[in-house]
Amino acid sequence: MITRIPDYFHDFRCLAGACPDTCCGQWEIVVDEAAKARYLSVEGELGEKIRNAMTVMDGEDCMALEDGKCPLLDENGLCPIVSQLGEEFLSTTCHTHPRFTEIYGGLQETMLSISCPEAARLLLTKQEKLTFSIEMDSILPEPDDLDADEFDLLLDARHIAFALVQDRSRPLSDRLALLLCFAKRLQDNLEELHICQALCRRYENRAYQDNVLRRIRRKRHGGSMTRARQLYLSMEHLSEQFPKVLQDLERTDLTGDEIPLEQLTVYFLFRWWLKAACNDRIWQQAAAAVLSVLTVAGLKKPVGSLTEAARLYSKEVEHSEENLVLLKQASELPMFSLPELLKLLEVHHAI
Ligand code: SF4
Repeated sequence: MITRIPDYFHDFRCLAGACPDTCCGQWEIVVDEAAKARYLSVEGELGEKIRNAMTVMDGEDCMALEDGKCPLLDENGLCPIVSQLGEEFLSTTCHTHPRFTEIYGGLQETMLSISCPEAARLLLTKQEKLTFSIEMDSILPEPDDLDADEFDLLLDARHIAFALVQDRSRPLSDRLALLLCFAKRLQDNLEELHICQALCRRYENRAYQDNVLRRIRRKRHGGSMTRARQLYLSMEHLSEQFPKVLQDLERTDLTGDEIPLEQLTVYFLFRWWLKAACNDRIWQQAAAAVLSVLTVAGLKKPVGSLTEAARLYSKEVEHSEENLVLLKQASELPMFSLPELLKLLEVHHAI
């Protein structure tokens, strides 16, 4: 199996008891079958504590939260399963978080979720352009029914999407505008792979990019985040903080935070772009990524920092299957169409 990971992946260290927002709370901590068997075999006081903490929700074994946190955590916020039995004793959910993996046949892609404050810090304080590396192991690939030609096109197109977003010779608002135009053209021609391949080559060309930017310049002004605010308010909320800070969500100038917002865009594209291999919706992935970046940027002021805004957004939106579906579906609606999203990317400079 081939695994693609971001270049800072192995720098991650869990903050454990020093974490300002432990992952051992607020959401369901699922206990898989193998872990359940291990947990039930533990003897003594700890075994009893673990068994008392376990419950069944929506047909799944999980830890019953107390005051929004896993009841096993000690007064220092440390997990006794890790300290007394070892990390490998944990359930898959606890053991792998904040790593999440998407599998596409013989390729798996693993990211560090920015719902974890340390993973968010690593991503958003990184100055160099985000790159990805490949690791190989002897695990056999899972069978898949992906269209190999379309998947190759999506990989090629994502490579170009990354290059557009990471072209620091342009303002970020231009890069996001190009990304949206590229995704829309791909979406409109997805049935014709040779046209999409030609589009990939065109969008690699700087003169072509300049033409696109000149053509759309007049469309890029005057948008508002009101519709986005309504969308997020209609979602399920994990925290009381999210709906509160949404009240102050405004369209914001991206120029002060171009590098962290670039990293954030690449993060969302890495996580979502290839999902088009399963649903043929490239536009949905790009539009949701740009809307997410604009929202995190707009939440910086009410939340207090960009890293904290990103962490909160990820926890509330990325980690709720229901909210993610709402976000992706909304990006197909007229209110988040290409012209509407372009309006949010105001342009002040010469092109
Ligand atoms: S949120 Fe991240 S840093 Fe905090 S306890 Fe969980 S994995 Fe560790």
